[in-house]
Amino acid sequence: MTDWKQLDQQYVAGTYARFPLTLVRGEGAMAYDDRGRGYIDLGSGIAVTAFGYCDPLWKAAVEKQLGLLQHTSNLYYTQPCIELARLLCEKTGMKKVFFSNSGAEANECAIKAARKYAAETKGAEYFHIITLENSFHGRTLTTLAATGQDHYHELFQPLTPGFVHTPAGDFAALEQAVKKHKTAGILLECIQGEGGVIPLEPEFLEKTAALAKEQDIVLMVDEVQTGNGRTGRLYSYMHYGIRPDVVSTAKGLGGGLPLGATLLGEKVQSVLGPGDHGSTFGGNPVCCAGALSILSRLDADFLNQVLEKETMIRAALEGAEGVEAVTGKGLMIGVKTRKPVAQVIAACREQGVLCLSAKDRLRLLPPLNIPGELLQTALDVIREACKD
Ligand SMILES: *Cc1c(COP(=O)(O)O)cnc(C)c1O
Repeated sequence: MTDWKQLDQQYVAGTYARFPLTLVRGEGAMAYDDRGRGYIDLGSGIAVTAFGYCDPLWKAAVEKQLGLLQHTSNLYYTQPCIELARLLCEKTGMKKVFFSNSGAEANECAIKAARKYAAETKGAEYFHIITLENSFHGRTLTTLAATGQDHYHELFQPLTPGFVHTPAGDFAALEQAVKKHKTAGILLECIQGEGGVIPLEPEFLEKTAALAKEQDIVLMVDEVQTGNGRTGRLYSYMHYGIRPDVVSTAKGLGGGLPLGATLLGEKVQSVLGPGDHGSTFGGNPVCCAGALSILSRLDADFLNQVLEKETMIRAALEGAEGVEAVTGKGLMIGVKTRKPVAQVIAACREQGVLCLSAKDRLRLLPPLNIPGELLQTALDVIREACKD
Protein backbone atom coordinates (compact mmCIF):
# COMPACT_ATOMS: atom_id res chain seq x y z
CA MET A 1 0.00 0.00 0.00
CA THR A 2 1.34 3.47 -0.90
CA ASP A 3 2.68 5.37 2.11
CA TRP A 4 0.94 8.68 1.42
CA LYS A 5 2.20 10.23 4.62
CA GLN A 6 5.82 9.60 3.62
CA LEU A 7 5.26 10.97 0.08
CA ASP A 8 3.54 14.06 1.49
CA GLN A 9 6.48 14.70 3.77
CA GLN A 10 8.85 14.32 0.83
CA TYR A 11 7.06 16.59 -1.67
CA VAL A 12 4.48 18.85 0.00
CA ALA A 13 5.57 21.97 1.89
CA GLY A 14 5.52 21.18 5.56
CA THR A 15 3.01 23.86 6.61
CA TYR A 16 0.37 21.50 7.99
CA ALA A 17 0.26 19.23 11.02
CA ARG A 18 -2.10 16.71 9.46
CA PHE A 19 -4.18 14.05 11.15
CA PRO A 20 -2.88 10.53 10.38
CA LEU A 21 -5.58 9.80 7.83
CA THR A 22 -5.73 9.78 4.01
CA LEU A 23 -9.26 10.50 2.84
CA VAL A 24 -10.25 9.23 -0.57
CA ARG A 25 -14.00 9.77 -0.87
CA GLY A 26 -17.04 11.01 0.98
CA GLU A 27 -20.81 10.92 0.93
CA GLY A 28 -22.94 13.29 2.97
CA ALA A 29 -21.50 13.50 6.48
CA MET A 30 -19.36 10.36 5.99
CA ALA A 31 -15.70 10.41 4.93
CA TYR A 32 -13.83 7.24 3.92
CA ASP A 33 -10.09 6.62 4.18
CA ASP A 34 -7.75 4.65 1.91
CA ARG A 35 -8.48 1.49 3.89
CA GLY A 36 -12.21 1.86 3.30
CA ARG A 37 -13.00 2.83 6.88
CA GLY A 38 -15.87 5.32 7.29
CA TYR A 39 -15.93 8.27 9.70
CA ILE A 40 -18.69 10.69 10.72
CA ASP A 41 -17.04 13.99 9.80
CA LEU A 42 -17.85 16.86 12.17
CA GLY A 43 -15.29 19.17 10.55
CA SER A 44 -16.66 19.64 6.99
CA GLY A 45 -13.21 20.59 5.70
CA ILE A 46 -13.24 23.50 8.19
CA ALA A 47 -16.84 24.64 7.67
CA VAL A 48 -16.59 24.34 3.87
CA THR A 49 -18.66 21.35 2.72
CA ALA A 50 -21.88 22.91 4.00
CA PHE A 51 -24.10 20.15 2.60
CA GLY A 52 -21.58 17.37 3.12
CA TYR A 53 -19.48 15.47 0.61
CA CYS A 54 -20.73 15.21 -2.97
CA ASP A 55 -24.17 16.58 -2.14
CA PRO A 56 -26.30 15.54 -5.16
CA LEU A 57 -27.86 18.97 -5.87
CA TRP A 58 -24.55 20.82 -5.51
CA LYS A 59 -22.80 18.21 -7.65
CA ALA A 60 -25.44 18.43 -10.38
CA ALA A 61 -25.17 22.24 -10.47
CA VAL A 62 -21.37 22.08 -10.68
CA GLU A 63 -21.36 19.34 -13.33
CA LYS A 64 -23.88 21.19 -15.46
CA GLN A 65 -21.75 24.34 -15.40
CA LEU A 66 -18.57 22.32 -16.05
CA GLY A 67 -20.14 21.11 -19.27
CA LEU A 68 -20.90 24.67 -20.37
CA LEU A 69 -17.96 26.88 -19.43
CA GLN A 70 -15.30 26.41 -16.74
CA HIS A 71 -13.67 29.86 -16.82
CA THR A 72 -13.79 33.11 -18.75
CA SER A 73 -11.85 35.66 -16.62
CA ASN A 74 -13.66 38.78 -15.52
CA LEU A 75 -13.34 40.37 -18.95
CA TYR A 76 -16.76 38.90 -19.81
CA TYR A 77 -20.17 38.70 -18.15
CA THR A 78 -21.09 35.24 -16.89
CA GLN A 79 -24.51 34.25 -15.60
CA PRO A 80 -23.74 32.24 -12.41
CA CYS A 81 -21.63 35.08 -10.98
CA ILE A 82 -24.33 37.69 -11.63
CA GLU A 83 -27.11 35.48 -10.26
CA LEU A 84 -25.11 34.71 -7.13
CA ALA A 85 -24.38 38.40 -6.52
CA ARG A 86 -28.08 39.17 -6.88
CA LEU A 87 -29.11 36.39 -4.48
CA LEU A 88 -26.51 37.51 -1.89
CA CYS A 89 -27.79 41.10 -2.08
CA GLU A 90 -31.45 40.07 -1.94
CA LYS A 91 -30.86 37.90 1.12
CA THR A 92 -28.80 40.48 3.04
CA GLY A 93 -29.81 43.93 1.84
CA MET A 94 -26.21 44.59 0.83
CA LYS A 95 -25.76 46.39 -2.49
CA LYS A 96 -22.82 44.93 -4.40
CA VAL A 97 -20.52 41.91 -4.33
CA PHE A 98 -16.87 41.42 -5.22
CA PHE A 99 -15.90 37.78 -5.79
CA SER A 100 -12.52 36.25 -4.97
CA ASN A 101 -11.21 32.79 -4.10
CA SER A 102 -10.67 32.65 -0.36
CA GLY A 103 -11.42 34.18 3.00
CA ALA A 104 -8.16 36.10 3.13
CA GLU A 105 -8.89 37.62 -0.27
CA ALA A 106 -12.43 38.52 0.79
CA ASN A 107 -10.92 40.40 3.75
CA GLU A 108 -8.27 42.07 1.55
CA CYS A 109 -11.07 43.53 -0.56
CA ALA A 110 -12.95 44.67 2.56
CA ILE A 111 -9.84 46.45 3.86
CA LYS A 112 -9.15 48.11 0.49
CA ALA A 113 -12.76 49.34 0.32
CA ALA A 114 -12.57 50.76 3.87
CA ARG A 115 -9.26 52.51 3.19
CA LYS A 116 -10.41 54.02 -0.07
CA TYR A 117 -13.69 55.20 1.45
CA ALA A 118 -11.85 56.89 4.32
CA ALA A 119 -9.18 58.37 2.03
CA GLU A 120 -11.88 59.93 -0.15
CA THR A 121 -14.16 61.17 2.63
CA LYS A 122 -11.68 62.09 5.40
CA GLY A 123 -8.16 62.07 3.98
CA ALA A 124 -5.36 59.61 3.25
CA GLU A 125 -4.12 59.69 6.87
CA TYR A 126 -7.31 57.90 7.96
CA PHE A 127 -5.95 54.45 7.15
CA HIS A 128 -6.03 52.60 10.46
CA ILE A 129 -8.03 49.39 10.76
CA ILE A 130 -8.98 48.25 14.25
CA THR A 131 -9.31 44.52 14.81
CA LEU A 132 -9.68 42.43 17.96
CA GLU A 133 -7.17 40.43 19.94
CA ASN A 134 -7.52 36.67 19.44
CA SER A 135 -9.06 37.24 16.00
CA PHE A 136 -8.21 35.41 12.78
CA HIS A 137 -8.53 37.05 9.38
CA GLY A 138 -6.19 35.12 7.07
CA ARG A 139 -2.61 34.33 6.04
CA THR A 140 -1.64 37.01 3.53
CA LEU A 141 0.70 39.66 4.94
CA THR A 142 -2.17 42.15 5.25
CA THR A 143 -4.72 39.77 6.77
CA LEU A 144 -1.99 38.46 9.09
CA ALA A 145 -1.50 42.05 10.23
CA ALA A 146 -5.26 42.16 10.85
CA THR A 147 -5.12 38.90 12.81
CA GLY A 148 -4.80 39.77 16.51
CA GLN A 149 -2.55 36.86 17.51
CA ASP A 150 1.15 37.68 17.84
CA HIS A 151 2.39 34.13 17.38
CA TYR A 152 1.33 34.26 13.71
CA HIS A 153 3.37 37.46 13.20
CA GLU A 154 6.81 36.45 14.40
CA LEU A 155 9.41 36.03 11.65
CA PHE A 156 7.21 37.60 8.95
CA GLN A 157 7.89 41.26 9.76
CA PRO A 158 7.29 43.84 8.49
CA LEU A 159 3.58 43.22 7.98
CA THR A 160 1.26 45.75 6.34
CA PRO A 161 1.20 48.78 8.66
CA GLY A 162 -1.91 50.49 10.03
CA PHE A 163 -3.52 47.71 12.07
CA VAL A 164 -4.41 48.23 15.73
CA HIS A 165 -5.65 45.40 17.98
CA THR A 166 -7.86 45.94 21.03
CA PRO A 167 -9.09 43.32 23.52
CA ALA A 168 -12.20 41.48 22.29
CA GLY A 169 -15.27 42.68 24.16
CA ASP A 170 -13.60 45.79 25.65
CA PHE A 171 -15.61 48.67 24.19
CA ALA A 172 -13.75 51.37 26.15
CA ALA A 173 -10.45 50.19 24.65
CA LEU A 174 -11.92 50.22 21.16
CA GLU A 175 -13.31 53.71 21.63
CA GLN A 176 -9.90 54.84 22.90
CA ALA A 177 -8.19 53.35 19.84
CA VAL A 178 -10.59 55.18 17.52
CA LYS A 179 -9.74 58.45 19.31
CA LYS A 180 -6.01 57.83 19.13
CA HIS A 181 -5.68 56.49 15.57
CA LYS A 182 -7.23 58.05 12.50
CA THR A 183 -9.51 55.14 11.70
CA ALA A 184 -10.83 53.86 8.37
CA GLY A 185 -12.50 50.70 9.57
CA ILE A 186 -13.25 48.15 12.27
CA LEU A 187 -13.02 44.46 11.33
CA LEU A 188 -14.35 41.72 13.61
CA GLU A 189 -15.79 38.19 13.82
CA CYS A 190 -19.06 37.97 15.81
CA ILE A 191 -17.85 34.55 16.96
CA GLN A 192 -14.06 34.18 16.97
CA GLY A 193 -13.55 30.86 15.19
CA GLU A 194 -9.85 30.01 15.17
CA GLY A 195 -9.64 31.86 18.50
CA GLY A 196 -11.62 29.09 20.23
CA VAL A 197 -15.26 29.60 19.16
CA ILE A 198 -15.69 32.61 21.43
CA PRO A 199 -18.79 34.77 20.81
CA LEU A 200 -18.70 38.53 21.36
CA GLU A 201 -21.25 39.99 23.75
CA PRO A 202 -24.29 41.54 21.99
CA GLU A 203 -23.76 44.79 23.91
CA PHE A 204 -20.17 45.11 22.65
CA LEU A 205 -21.31 44.56 19.06
CA GLU A 206 -24.18 47.05 19.37
CA LYS A 207 -21.95 49.74 20.86
CA THR A 208 -19.26 49.13 18.27
CA ALA A 209 -21.78 49.38 15.43
CA ALA A 210 -23.19 52.61 16.89
CA LEU A 211 -19.70 54.11 17.22
CA ALA A 212 -18.84 53.17 13.63
CA LYS A 213 -22.04 54.76 12.40
CA GLU A 214 -21.56 57.93 14.42
CA GLN A 215 -17.94 58.39 13.29
CA ASP A 216 -18.54 57.24 9.71
CA ILE A 217 -16.10 54.35 10.17
CA VAL A 218 -16.53 51.31 7.91
CA LEU A 219 -17.80 48.37 9.98
CA MET A 220 -16.61 45.08 8.48
CA VAL A 221 -17.82 41.72 9.74
CA ASP A 222 -15.66 38.71 8.87
CA GLU A 223 -18.20 35.96 8.14
CA VAL A 224 -15.70 33.63 6.50
CA GLN A 225 -16.34 30.87 9.03
CA THR A 226 -19.60 32.00 10.65
CA GLY A 227 -21.37 32.73 7.36
CA ASN A 228 -23.67 30.89 4.99
CA GLY A 229 -25.96 29.31 7.58
CA ARG A 230 -23.25 27.99 9.87
CA THR A 231 -24.60 29.63 13.05
CA GLY A 232 -28.29 29.10 12.28
CA ARG A 233 -28.74 32.47 10.60
CA LEU A 234 -27.60 33.25 7.07
CA TYR A 235 -24.82 35.45 8.54
CA SER A 236 -23.92 35.56 12.22
CA TYR A 237 -24.40 39.35 12.51
CA MET A 238 -28.10 38.65 11.91
CA HIS A 239 -28.32 37.27 15.46
CA TYR A 240 -27.64 40.81 16.64
CA GLY A 241 -29.31 44.10 15.78
CA ILE A 242 -26.38 45.36 13.74
CA ARG A 243 -25.94 46.28 10.08
CA PRO A 244 -22.36 46.05 8.85
CA ASP A 245 -21.08 48.16 5.96
CA VAL A 246 -19.07 45.23 4.62
CA VAL A 247 -19.44 41.46 5.03
CA SER A 248 -16.65 39.15 3.93
CA THR A 249 -17.29 35.47 3.46
CA ALA A 250 -15.83 32.31 1.89
CA LYS A 251 -15.51 28.78 3.37
CA GLY A 252 -19.07 27.35 3.19
CA LEU A 253 -20.23 29.63 0.37
CA GLY A 254 -18.84 27.47 -2.43
CA GLY A 255 -19.83 24.19 -0.80
CA GLY A 256 -16.31 22.84 -1.40
CA LEU A 257 -14.97 24.86 -4.31
CA PRO A 258 -12.87 27.97 -3.65
CA LEU A 259 -14.98 31.10 -3.56
CA GLY A 260 -14.73 34.30 -1.54
CA ALA A 261 -17.22 37.16 -1.54
CA THR A 262 -17.07 40.69 -0.17
CA LEU A 263 -20.54 42.18 0.25
CA LEU A 264 -20.58 45.97 0.09
CA GLY A 265 -23.35 47.91 1.82
CA GLU A 266 -24.85 51.22 0.85
CA LYS A 267 -22.02 53.34 2.27
CA VAL A 268 -19.22 51.70 0.28
CA GLN A 269 -21.12 50.26 -2.68
CA SER A 270 -19.49 52.59 -5.21
CA VAL A 271 -16.06 52.93 -3.63
CA LEU A 272 -14.28 50.38 -5.79
CA GLY A 273 -14.20 51.39 -9.45
CA PRO A 274 -12.57 49.98 -12.59
CA GLY A 275 -8.96 48.97 -11.87
CA ASP A 276 -9.22 49.40 -8.09
CA HIS A 277 -9.37 45.68 -7.47
CA GLY A 278 -9.56 42.46 -9.45
CA SER A 279 -9.02 38.72 -9.62
CA THR A 280 -8.35 36.32 -12.48
CA PHE A 281 -10.31 33.44 -10.96
CA GLY A 282 -12.74 35.38 -8.74
CA GLY A 283 -16.39 34.67 -9.53
CA ASN A 284 -15.49 31.49 -11.43
CA PRO A 285 -18.71 30.20 -13.03
CA VAL A 286 -18.32 26.62 -11.74
CA CYS A 287 -17.74 27.80 -8.15
CA CYS A 288 -20.64 30.26 -8.43
CA ALA A 289 -23.02 27.64 -9.86
CA GLY A 290 -22.23 25.43 -6.84
CA ALA A 291 -22.68 28.38 -4.46
CA LEU A 292 -26.10 29.16 -5.96
CA SER A 293 -27.19 25.63 -5.13
CA ILE A 294 -26.00 26.08 -1.53
CA LEU A 295 -27.28 29.60 -0.90
CA SER A 296 -30.73 29.03 -2.42
CA ARG A 297 -31.37 26.23 0.11
CA LEU A 298 -30.51 28.31 3.21
CA ASP A 299 -34.08 29.39 3.93
CA ALA A 300 -35.77 30.02 7.30
CA ASP A 301 -36.92 26.40 7.70
CA PHE A 302 -33.49 25.02 7.00
CA LEU A 303 -31.79 27.49 9.35
CA ASN A 304 -34.22 26.52 12.12
CA GLN A 305 -33.13 22.92 11.68
CA VAL A 306 -29.53 24.07 12.19
CA LEU A 307 -30.61 25.69 15.47
CA GLU A 308 -32.43 22.49 16.49
CA LYS A 309 -29.20 20.56 15.98
CA GLU A 310 -27.41 23.06 18.24
CA THR A 311 -30.00 22.16 20.90
CA MET A 312 -29.18 18.46 20.39
CA ILE A 313 -25.45 19.13 20.80
CA ARG A 314 -25.95 21.19 23.93
CA ALA A 315 -28.30 18.60 25.43
CA ALA A 316 -25.65 15.90 24.88
CA LEU A 317 -22.55 17.80 25.99
CA GLU A 318 -23.47 20.50 28.52
CA GLY A 319 -22.74 19.13 31.98
CA ALA A 320 -21.32 15.87 30.57
CA GLU A 321 -18.38 14.31 32.42
CA GLY A 322 -15.13 16.02 31.41
CA VAL A 323 -16.92 18.88 29.58
CA GLU A 324 -16.27 22.30 31.13
CA ALA A 325 -18.05 24.61 28.69
CA VAL A 326 -19.95 24.61 25.41
CA THR A 327 -19.76 27.81 23.33
CA GLY A 328 -20.85 28.97 19.89
CA LYS A 329 -24.05 29.03 17.91
CA GLY A 330 -25.83 26.75 15.45
CA LEU A 331 -23.41 24.20 14.06
CA MET A 332 -20.28 26.11 15.04
CA ILE A 333 -19.64 24.79 18.53
CA GLY A 334 -16.62 24.92 20.83
CA VAL A 335 -16.24 22.44 23.67
CA LYS A 336 -13.83 23.05 26.51
CA THR A 337 -12.73 19.63 27.69
CA ARG A 338 -10.93 18.71 30.89
CA LYS A 339 -8.64 16.34 28.97
CA PRO A 340 -6.17 17.81 26.45
CA VAL A 341 -8.14 18.38 23.26
CA ALA A 342 -5.68 16.43 21.08
CA GLN A 343 -6.35 13.37 23.21
CA VAL A 344 -10.13 13.74 22.81
CA ILE A 345 -9.80 14.17 19.03
CA ALA A 346 -7.62 11.05 18.76
CA ALA A 347 -10.05 9.01 20.87
CA CYS A 348 -13.00 10.16 18.71
CA ARG A 349 -11.12 9.29 15.52
CA GLU A 350 -10.42 5.78 16.80
CA GLN A 351 -14.18 5.45 17.30
CA GLY A 352 -14.94 6.72 13.80
CA VAL A 353 -15.69 10.41 14.44
CA LEU A 354 -13.63 13.30 13.03
CA CYS A 355 -13.48 16.52 15.10
CA LEU A 356 -11.35 19.65 14.89
CA SER A 357 -9.84 21.92 17.50
CA ALA A 358 -9.57 25.68 17.93
CA LYS A 359 -6.96 26.73 20.48
CA ASP A 360 -7.58 24.49 23.52
CA ARG A 361 -11.16 23.59 22.54
CA LEU A 362 -12.82 20.91 20.56
CA ARG A 363 -14.47 22.52 17.52
CA LEU A 364 -17.53 20.98 15.88
CA LEU A 365 -18.51 22.14 12.38
CA PRO A 366 -20.66 19.33 10.97
CA PRO A 367 -22.38 19.58 7.59
CA LEU A 368 -25.46 21.78 8.05
CA ASN A 369 -27.69 18.95 6.81
CA ILE A 370 -26.15 16.17 8.93
CA PRO A 371 -28.90 13.64 9.71
CA GLY A 372 -29.97 13.78 13.38
CA GLU A 373 -29.17 10.08 13.89
CA LEU A 374 -25.59 10.41 12.70
CA LEU A 375 -25.12 13.51 14.84
CA GLN A 376 -26.44 11.65 17.88
CA THR A 377 -24.10 8.72 17.24
CA ALA A 378 -21.17 11.12 16.99
CA LEU A 379 -22.20 12.95 20.17
CA ASP A 380 -22.29 9.65 22.09
CA VAL A 381 -18.71 9.01 20.94
CA ILE A 382 -17.61 12.52 22.01
CA ARG A 383 -19.23 12.12 25.44
CA GLU A 384 -17.34 8.87 25.98
CA ALA A 385 -14.06 10.43 24.77
CA CYS A 386 -14.37 13.38 27.18
CA LYS A 387 -14.73 11.15 30.26
CA ASP A 388 -11.71 11.01 32.57
C1 LIG B 1 -10.63 30.63 7.58
C2 LIG B 1 -10.78 32.06 7.92
C3 LIG B 1 -10.16 33.07 7.15
C4 LIG B 1 -9.20 32.76 6.03
O1 LIG B 1 -9.80 32.07 4.97
P1 LIG B 1 -8.90 31.40 3.83
O2 LIG B 1 -9.90 30.90 2.85
O3 LIG B 1 -8.11 30.30 4.48
O4 LIG B 1 -8.04 32.46 3.29
C5 LIG B 1 -10.43 34.38 7.46
N1 LIG B 1 -11.26 34.70 8.48
C6 LIG B 1 -11.86 33.78 9.24
C7 LIG B 1 -12.78 34.20 10.34
C8 LIG B 1 -11.64 32.42 9.00
O5 LIG B 1 -12.22 31.50 9.76
